[in-house]
Amino acid sequence: MTILVIAEHDNKVLAPATLNTVAAAVKIGGDIHVLVAGQGAGAVAEAAAKIAGVAKVLVADNAAYAHQLPENVAPLVAELGKGYSHILAAATSNGKNILPRVAAVLDVDQISEIISVESADTFKRPIYAGNAIATVQSNAAVKVITVRATGFDPVAAEGGSASVEAVGAAHDAGISSFVGEELAKSDRPELTAAKIVVSGGRGMQNGDNFKHLYALADKLGAAVGASRAAVDAGFVPNDMQVGQTGKIVAPQLYIAVGISGAIQHLAGMKDSKVIVAINKDEEAPIFQVADYGLVADLFEAIPEMAALA
Ligand SMILES: Cc1cc2nc3c(=O)[nH]c(=O)nc-3n(C[C@H](O)[C@H](O)[C@H](O)COP(=O)(O)OP(=O)(O)OC[C@H]3O[C@@H](n4cnc5c(N)ncnc54)[C@H](O)[C@@H]3O)c2cc1C
Repeated sequence: MTILVIAEHDNKVLAPATLNTVAAAVKIGGDIHVLVAGQGAGAVAEAAAKIAGVAKVLVADNAAYAHQLPENVAPLVAELGKGYSHILAAATSNGKNILPRVAAVLDVDQISEIISVESADTFKRPIYAGNAIATVQSNAAVKVITVRATGFDPVAAEGGSASVEAVGAAHDAGISSFVGEELAKSDRPELTAAKIVVSGGRGMQNGDNFKHLYALADKLGAAVGASRAAVDAGFVPNDMQVGQTGKIVAPQLYIAVGISGAIQHLAGMKDSKVIVAINKDEEAPIFQVADYGLVADLFEAIPEMAALA
């Protein structure tokens, strides 16, 4: 068995989710190859070659892959992937953009967002917004799988010494082109990689009040997230949304502030190691999943916590 892992990167830095995806590949067993598709991504290939457990790094360096447009990367992965038993990518926006196309080209079912590996052909994945866990067995010749990063502890970033091989194939489907991107810049940790997340909900009342959460987060070295209600109300941008239709996080500590605890929100954070809820309504469902609950007005509690932190 040989497993192909698609590296998640921005041509400069290998994203941590790749390490969780390799961890899933290690559980499946067999040789692990990592594909770096990009342009000028030499540093990423070097980092991938150092990942513990990786045997080979394939580098497809071409202008067609510069922005990892799925229309161009998917045919490359499908072509290379035919020779593999499994193709894995992190269940990020990028992975979720590329792998379904690969599965379609290979005419196999995709197995989405696995959270555990039972054997080489059997996996567990959440369904119904995480309210049930399905065990899925696949007899596809090539198993195309997205991996929920929070389900697997990352492998070591250092310690491997994989060979690096260039891949010549250039697929430019010519049906899409990169126009531009607007990336949110923040000195705080990235939401899905942060050890501590402080999230605000509708109870924050407006975007300006998020300054109380930013002050606390900066003291704790935390990332700031939000409920969908807070995003839909325009308090904060949608890349901060945690939940079923937002980001999935599983930090050491999740502090939910003015969030009621709808199942769609819980789907994105209930695997956090310790959950703290602050809500003025003692009946709020968030208290059912919280390890520590504080029934209080957030506008008093948060500044007090920030002063103590
Ligand atoms: C298909 C679908 C997908 C969805 N995806 C997501 C998702 O990804 N993420 C997500 O979050 N939601 C999602 N939702 C929405 C979800 O159902 C809820 O509507 C949403 O999570 C509610 O957000 P909230 O808890 O901030 O708001 P509310 O439910 O309105 O809760 C606000 C809470 O703040 C408390 N509060 C108010 N003032 C204060 C104060 N001063 N001090 C302390 N507490 C206070 C209140 O007691 C209340 O509990 C989805 C819904 C659907 C249908």
